[in-house]
Amino acid sequence: MRWSQTYIPTLREKQSEAELVSHQLLLRGGYIRKLSSGIYLYLPLMQRVIHKFSNIVREEMNRAGALEITMSVLCPAEIWQESGRYNTVGKEQMRLTDRHNHEMVLCGTHEETVTTLIRGEIKSYRQLPLNLYQIQVKFRDEIRPRFGLMRGREFIMKDAYSFDATEESFKESYQKMVDAYFRIFNRAGLDVVKVESDTGAMGGKAAHEFMFLVDTNAGEETILICQKCGYSANVEKAIFRDLEKPAAENELKEMETVDTPNASSIEEVTAFLKVDSRKLVKTLLYIADDKPIAALVRGDREVNEIKLKNSINAIELRMATPEEIEQHTGAPVGFSGPVGLKNIPIITDSLIMDLKNFVVGANAFEKHLVNVNMKRDFQPTKVVDITLAEADDGCPHCGNKLIAQKGIEVGNTFMLGTKYSEALGAKFLDDQGEEHPIIMGSYGIGITRTPQAALEKYYDEKGIIWPKNIAPYLVELIPISMDNSNQVETADKIYKMLIEANIDVLYDDRHERAGVKFNDADLVGIPIRITIGDKSLKQGKIEIKARCEKEFSLVDVDNTLEAVKQLTKKIK
Ligand code: ATP
Ligand code: MG
Repeated sequence: MRWSQTYIPTLREKQSEAELVSHQLLLRGGYIRKLSSGIYLYLPLMQRVIHKFSNIVREEMNRAGALEITMSVLCPAEIWQESGRYNTVGKEQMRLTDRHNHEMVLCGTHEETVTTLIRGEIKSYRQLPLNLYQIQVKFRDEIRPRFGLMRGREFIMKDAYSFDATEESFKESYQKMVDAYFRIFNRAGLDVVKVESDTGAMGGKAAHEFMFLVDTNAGEETILICQKCGYSANVEKAIFRDLEKPAAENELKEMETVDTPNASSIEEVTAFLKVDSRKLVKTLLYIADDKPIAALVRGDREVNEIKLKNSINAIELRMATPEEIEQHTGAPVGFSGPVGLKNIPIITDSLIMDLKNFVVGANAFEKHLVNVNMKRDFQPTKVVDITLAEADDGCPHCGNKLIAQKGIEVGNTFMLGTKYSEALGAKFLDDQGEEHPIIMGSYGIGITRTPQAALEKYYDEKGIIWPKNIAPYLVELIPISMDNSNQVETADKIYKMLIEANIDVLYDDRHERAGVKFNDADLVGIPIRITIGDKSLKQGKIEIKARCEKEFSLVDVDNTLEAVKQLTKKIK
């Protein structure tokens, strides 16, 4: 492609709308433009990146035996009502009404559609296993669309759905996807780690996320990793061994009410009462599906709201407001406690099981209760792990200290079980003629998120450095002067040579100063640059250089193709 004939509107200035480097670079490199919040337009270079990445995904999915289809984005609300998710996905789902007053949704995922497609058509175990996938646009009305293509309201996803007759066969199908995912991200130049994750609104049994680890604030997810045994989980899901257990006590002391003037925070109360924060129990009031619940965690720990939400099967969970706290406990914020709480479920963290004679709020202004004991002084409704795991907690498997890292979720895999096949009636007959719901899995990859994620790592102060397999072009060809017929002739010749060898080349044929072209080349980030200038041309040579390296090599014009091939092998 000739630069003069394409559309690459590069920008010199820093773009104020972009907080992340990757977002900044895509705007400045002329890859994307914003139309509205979370809605982006992909310009010619971005379109090529999307094609490159999609093709890697397609090749690996096909290799794993999955079959490409295309499902509609527009979908009747009925099948979402049938699966039960119409009420649970909440405001993230884009909804509309057609001219016949028929409720419709714009799909953010396609479990309902694909299950509707196969139900009634797949009748026998002989037709299984099956894996159907698509690469297509999705809509989600995200609460906080941000970071450019990372979290859009309209974006492209690869989503695959597997159907199996037995658990054994499902395991194989799942593993095939996991293997394909590692190959995909590896080919795209991204090292990813697979971590255990919460199943969220998708439901099902278990799930994994594929995380691209970064140390920038693009890493929206925190991952806890055990470097000894390999346990790794999203913090939303992570379990842990408590390495900070307070000393055991035998005797149950008498409960007492004490005044705690000017002390409502954990720090203030522990300082005032001169107790270890591990001997204090925090009572936090939440509103779960419009009803109050109390969550109890040890004073030195935080609540994991996802664990809490899952423990009570809530759809919506939020912290109670100060007014609600006062209404339900009779005391202002900072003095809530489980003793005497009426008609409010008390969800108690498992770590509290080990505590005796602890401190809690007294549900009265500036008062706390000391020497409180579970069962004797209050009845927990449920004892369950609701603590947020943290770095330096013990690995749940081997006890080694966990480390924390930030990551961007680029893909995920869900073991759905029979949630959708049961709800929507997708059944098959086994070899005995017995009917069973089909076992399903679903598998997503962010087609637009992933390339941007890569740019959180692949750049320098001058611009993008694309990994070669997802770069819009492999080679950029720059004659220093388009007014020099010698240079132009050579450039034309090399351009033709590379195109004939099926190499994607961007030919900067603009009548611009060399400096402008070089700056644009660095910004746009094509992996290999070939420069044609008088000095080297006198010796019959061109300059070839990888974007990721400072040094260039001089190569005979006739050897250019070979040099491009060699350099391609060398770079990531
Ligand atoms: P997240 O936790 O980041 O919101 P998710 O769990 O909602 O992601 P899935 O529903 O499993 O994601 O979607 C599959 C993949 O699609 C994700 O791994 C991610 O790469 C991509 N993706 C999800 N939401 C968005 C979005 N709003 N914009 C761009 N890509 C997205
Ligand atoms: Mg999401």
